[in-house]
Parts: sequence; C-alpha cells; structure tokens
Amino acid sequence: MNKRIDLHMHTLFSDGELLPSELARRAQNLDHEVIAITDHVDYSNLDIITQIQKAIDDINENWNIRVILGAEVTHAPVTSIDKIAKYAKELGAEIVVVHGETLNEPVIKGTNRAAVESEYVDILAHPGLITKQEAELAKKNNVYLEISARKGHCLSNGHVVNISKEIGNNLLVNTDTHSPDDLITFKKSYEIALGAGLNEKEALKTIIDNPRKLINKL
Ligand SMILES: [Zn+2]
Ligand SMILES: [Zn+2]
Repeated sequence: MNKRIDLHMHTLFSDGELLPSELARRAQNLDHEVIAITDHVDYSNLDIITQIQKAIDDINENWNIRVILGAEVTHAPVTSIDKIAKYAKELGAEIVVVHGETLNEPVIKGTNRAAVESEYVDILAHPGLITKQEAELAKKNNVYLEISARKGHCLSNGHVVNISKEIGNNLLVNTDTHSPDDLITFKKSYEIALGAGLNEKEALKTIIDNPRKLINKL
C-alpha cells in the first residue's frame, strides 16, 4: 500500500492547532510515511526551528513515522526571503517552503519570484497565478511547486498544473494542515491531483515519486 508524504504542515508553534507529537500521531494514524513541520516564520520567530527540533528527534526515535524539520517563510518582504530561508537552514530546517502568491491572501507581488530564485528554497507553496518565467526559474533551481489541498489556496491548482505541464515542473500535493481535520489520506491526495487536471500517471508521479525525490536529496 502506498503511504502518504506531506511536506507542508503547521503546529501550534505558529498558527496550527496541534503540538508536533499530536500532529505526528494523527498523521501516522492516517498512514503517513513522512511529514514536514513547516511553521510560519519571518525574522521575529526563527528560533521556533530550534525549539521544535528536540520534539522531532524524539518522535523519529520512537515512532514509525519520519518527521522532517522545516519552515515556511511567510509574508516576508521580498528582498528578505532569500536571507530568511538561508537563516532557517542554518538553524536546522531541512525543508524551506515559501508562502506563495495565493489568490486567497494579499501576498506581496514578487514573492513567487524571490522564492524560485533562492537556492535555499525547496517548495513554493500555493503559487497562485504563477508566470511561465517564474515556473522556468523554479525548474532551473529545483524548487517544487505545490498543488494545495487547502480551501482558498486550491483556487489556482488548475493553473499551476497547466503551467507545469508546459514547463516541466516537479509538483507536490500538500495539505498545509493547520487542524486535525486538514490531514488527508493517500487516496484523497490522488483525487486532488486528478481534480487539478493531472492524468493518472502524472498524479501518481506527483504523490509518490516527487516527494521521495525531494526528501532523498536532504
Ligand atoms: Zn497558517
Ligand atoms: Zn502553510
């Protein structure tokens, strides 16, 4: 049976509802093999990365689920995104997500571009109406683009798929979980990938191969 990998999740160290261990336990119960805890950061709270580390080590040592320490650079000034991403990695974040230009929030224009240009960024989350030029840079710099399971952020999934088919980007399906009910099964992630416009083969690549390819390089 295929297990789920979700590389974008929040805990109560930012605006999620669960402790890292509660989130990991619920994910394990829904057949997740790997999750990444990617709480919102800007310059004010990068220290949460080191705070969460010990809990993640504890979970990884004791439970049959792999939790990856990450961070999501969120609503930061465009000129600071690369620096904050670099700093997050220095503090121990293995995966850096950037909170992209979702149609659902007034994210500063230029955020997508700064994310796909940064060597420290792994995933551009909910990239909204990402341009071809940005998608080309994402491909060149190996930044994965996200198909979002989250209400509001999912509004541009079809556009992200269309652009990525043309440019050849690596896609992921992430939940951006904040609450227990946001977690999804492997089957649901497949349906979301199909719903975004991927064919069966592309959908399976997006939910099985791509997240493994990303975490294998860590
Ligand atoms: Zn949030
Ligand atoms: Zn998020």
